[in-house]
Amino acid sequence: MIFISILFVNFLHGIEYSFIGGIVKSDEVISTSEIELIENSYLEAKNIIEDLFKLKFKNEKVEIVFLSSTYEFTKNFGVDYKIGGISTRNNVYFQPIRVLRTKSDLRKIFLHEFLHFWIDKIGNLPDFINEGIALYYSKLFNKNTTLIFPEGLEDKEIFTEDYYFSSKEFVRYLIEKKLLHSVLSNSNYVEVYRKFYFENADKIRVLVNPRKERELSVKLSSGYATIFSKDGEFEVKNSQFKILMEGKRIFVLGREVFSIHFKTDKFILNDRSYRGELLITNELAINILPVEYYVYSVVNSEIPPSELEAMKVQAVLSRTLAYYFMRSRKNEPYDVNSLTDSQSYRGMSEENQQSKRCIIDTEGEILTFAGSIIPVYFSSTCGGKTANSEDVWNDYLPFYRSKDCFYNGETNCNISEHFKEWERFLTNDFLYSIGITNVEFVYSGERVKRVIVDGRIESFDVFKARISKILGWNFLKSNFLTIEKKENGYLIKGRGLGHGVGVCQYGAIGLAKKGKNYREILSFYLSGVEIEKFKNQNPWGF
Ligand SMILES: [Zn+2]
Ligand SMILES: [Zn+2]
Repeated sequence: MIFISILFVNFLHGIEYSFIGGIVKSDEVISTSEIELIENSYLEAKNIIEDLFKLKFKNEKVEIVFLSSTYEFTKNFGVDYKIGGISTRNNVYFQPIRVLRTKSDLRKIFLHEFLHFWIDKIGNLPDFINEGIALYYSKLFNKNTTLIFPEGLEDKEIFTEDYYFSSKEFVRYLIEKKLLHSVLSNSNYVEVYRKFYFENADKIRVLVNPRKERELSVKLSSGYATIFSKDGEFEVKNSQFKILMEGKRIFVLGREVFSIHFKTDKFILNDRSYRGELLITNELAINILPVEYYVYSVVNSEIPPSELEAMKVQAVLSRTLAYYFMRSRKNEPYDVNSLTDSQSYRGMSEENQQSKRCIIDTEGEILTFAGSIIPVYFSSTCGGKTANSEDVWNDYLPFYRSKDCFYNGETNCNISEHFKEWERFLTNDFLYSIGITNVEFVYSGERVKRVIVDGRIESFDVFKARISKILGWNFLKSNFLTIEKKENGYLIKGRGLGHGVGVCQYGAIGLAKKGKNYREILSFYLSGVEIEKFKNQNPWGF
């Protein structure tokens, strides 16, 4: 943890130890071997930073203070109790030694803080570089290290929204390729980082003209267009383009072309802003962008604004779905379209601070079962109990097991407006009008899986589609239903909204309100599923 200045710290510290770099103060006894560890880590950190930045530090005396209690530590520094230590330009403060002993390796904790101590002496490095170096050399680098927000980087002006992702891997890349010194001497290194990330991140291809609009207007604020035509390939630096599509023929700048590739990081297409690049080919307009930027936007279309932990649940679900399509549609011209049959994607207008925050906090995380990406299902409101996959469709999927949507004395999704039992009436007259006389539900578990219509069996989805076409999509909002024959028709009582398989979204919101985090919520609804960073997600190739 890095802090520039500490105004006033007042401690009781009974015992003092001297070591080669200065003095150690503590209320508790620190063993000789621990003092040795402090000394060695302090010197090791010094050597590492001197080497890395090709410089020599002057010998100054440091004061290392172990606070008396975690309470005192968090109160004085205003930080989370999990933080082990804090360094300033002249002092390093630690949690009580008895607390540190219960954490991981003492050596790693000391080394980490001393690395910060020496890096701070260089001055003017952005926090993601500082933290990246300290994590790397203290070997506190692992896939569960969440770096960005716990260390408060969101407030730093240099670390704007576009530069969050994989920052620690970027630093690691620079260190391992021995590029750190030269990149840091270039004042434009944030730009270097941004460009690296953009070029190397996993990208998704989103069809953004699913309705095959004939006229497209494209505006660029940076970058250029590469146009491929029968006369060859050429670059155009205009900021505005009008494109006409006639079937598979493409016209731009008064000529017919094969395809146009807009190489930029942001563009406006028919008044909508998008991140990433745009490719026009055949009759398709395809937005190519890092997956994380894509989920910035879709997460808000898939779940109402709510508790951050519930939105993180959705972030992981949406990202998993994105990777699932990217894998299964590798040989198709695009991975997903921008409509709800993939995930609704409306570009940058749907992004906000909360959606970015939940993507950044879960960077690269997807759901796997026995090592494979799972097909993702979720629905709005389960109505009290989620469904087994085979009770709704034909596939048995071991991770989609029925689960009481209930915790701590109440149903999780009872905050949903769809939770309360609803009623519908199918009149005989209506049924006659679509050629039906008699209806019977066939259950699997609690869910209606099939319907016997005048002696013929059809799936519930088919039946529902027939009804919805005329009475609207929300006439039968779920498959959690009872049916009762009355004189002039059928009384249907139902609960919830959606198919009920997988995560109950309102249930996730309910659990988040009860203090559960996104990992706990995901494992509450999904049996035996793991949350993993996608293997190829790290753009730096580690
Ligand atoms: Zn740190
Ligand atoms: Zn539920």
